[in-house]
Amino acid sequence: MKKIIVIGGGPAGMISAIISARNGNTVIILEKNEKLGKKLYITGKGRCNLTNNSTVDEVLDNVITNSNFVKPAIEKFPPADVISFFEELGLSLKTERGKRVFPSSDKASDVTKVLEKELKNLKINVKFNTNVTDLIIKDKKIVGVATNKGDFNCDSVVIATGGISYPTTGSTGDGYVFAKKCGHKIKDVVPALNGIVCKYPIKNANNLTLKNVTLTAKKSDRLLYTEQGELMLTDYGISGPIGITCSSYINRQDLLNVKLYVDFKPALSNEKLFTRISTDFEQNYGFIKDVLRKLLPKEVILPILQKAGIYTNKDVKQVTKQEIIKLVDNLKGYVLLPTGLRDIKEAIVTAGGVDVSNINRDTLESKIIKGLFFAGEVLDIDALTGGFNIQIALSTGYVAGCNA
Ligand code: FAD
Repeated sequence: MKKIIVIGGGPAGMISAIISARNGNTVIILEKNEKLGKKLYITGKGRCNLTNNSTVDEVLDNVITNSNFVKPAIEKFPPADVISFFEELGLSLKTERGKRVFPSSDKASDVTKVLEKELKNLKINVKFNTNVTDLIIKDKKIVGVATNKGDFNCDSVVIATGGISYPTTGSTGDGYVFAKKCGHKIKDVVPALNGIVCKYPIKNANNLTLKNVTLTAKKSDRLLYTEQGELMLTDYGISGPIGITCSSYINRQDLLNVKLYVDFKPALSNEKLFTRISTDFEQNYGFIKDVLRKLLPKEVILPILQKAGIYTNKDVKQVTKQEIIKLVDNLKGYVLLPTGLRDIKEAIVTAGGVDVSNINRDTLESKIIKGLFFAGEVLDIDALTGGFNIQIALSTGYVAGCNA
């Protein structure tokens, strides 16, 4: 029987502890908050999208960084096993659009509740308000940790301290500091799944969400991302489902060379849109800004006309063919210039973190310090929305728990 310390009581830490205790070890969770799963509580808008009911390959398709590294962990604890694991703990689940899995109660707190109950059943000692400040290492082997409440000795440690986004939930990047101090490389930490700040945003749109538009990101001529879906226009730039997804594809790029293109009418070709607008202008009277209301929400009409260089109060009968072509060009490819992402504090996940080249992908043990394991967002792995990030936390937590 070994003595295991798990640092962090998020999904990765809780599952590590459960699996490790089920394997007969004595386990302690050290959590600096006054409760477990503080971030988990706010996931999925309070409903917790805890996995995606998909195959291993489908999960890996949604991993942005280091899908190859995380493959064995997803294979060992895939979504189907995550679903059975929670159902066996008594949590009823449902699958929604896009195979997203939620608790049937729509309450994220129910996910934590069943995990807490199992921790109790397994007599896992959870120490709250216990902030780990350092690792204690002897001869390249972990022997304990230092905390605000004194030192704890152990045979193995699982670092499951999360990333650095939403720091009020306790994820303040401590794991990066511990890992770096004992020789692990840390990949630059950047926000992912976050709003994109643009140089000349479409202002005063009041967070208007446009359904069925296409957002494309290109670096010079190289395609970085393109998807049709819901886009939110904010005072700083863009957000909403495809806006935040796009952020994960551009967050490590030099944004000076990146351009975003919004196609407001992806269902119509340039020719069809030209014909449609020409017909509208022939059949209607008034200012162009008013006639365009048939085609577009009012919030985007003025910026588009401005970009196309057309006077907003121009009589539609006076609009030239060249102007309609310019209008169509801007409707099919409105250019936005990204300058950065919103602050990492607001990001749904942290990209970057403990460099996976220092970690054994089959066991999640450090290649540098014996007995030291990593699980969850602290690793340089990030994925898209849909339950994939918690799935990664659970799969890596499971593997670390099996091997610690
Ligand atoms: P965390 O959940 O961050 O847990 C880390 C724990 O470690 C914390 O409790 C922290 O207090 C503790 N800790 C840190 N440092 C120390 C220390 N020094 N000593 C002691 N304890 C420490 N993902 C999805 O898949 N589906 C969703 O619906 C979803 N929604 C999200 C919504 C929001 C608003 C946010 C911010 C994220 C969302 N995510 C979602 C992402 C998901 O929450 C994270 O990827 C996941 O929680 C990571 O789990 P973790 O266990 O690695 O880390």
